[in-house]
Amino acid sequence: MDDILFRALAERVAGYLDGVDRLATAQPSQVGHELRRLSGAWRSLLGQHAPAGRKRRCSGCQSPRGSPAMCAVWRVAGVWFVRA
Ligand SMILES: [Zn+2]
Repeated sequence: MDDILFRALAERVAGYLDGVDRLATAQPSQVGHELRRLSGAWRSLLGQHAPAGRKRRCSGCQSPRGSPAMCAVWRVAGVWFVRA
């Protein structure tokens, strides 16, 4: 996946997670806390799987033969968090 497409995906996923954080503020305390916890965990996981290096491979999957395409973590986020 090239950098432009990856950045577009990352912006859409971040927008979704920002929306979850906004929803969290309108929820009862415990529900809001759990929503922020989930979005924080996703942000952390996605950050650990960001493309890196000259070949833009996933920095978290550690596969020397890994494809420069986005890894499974980003594919799941794209399918679940980016709506058409
Ligand atoms: Zn990965």
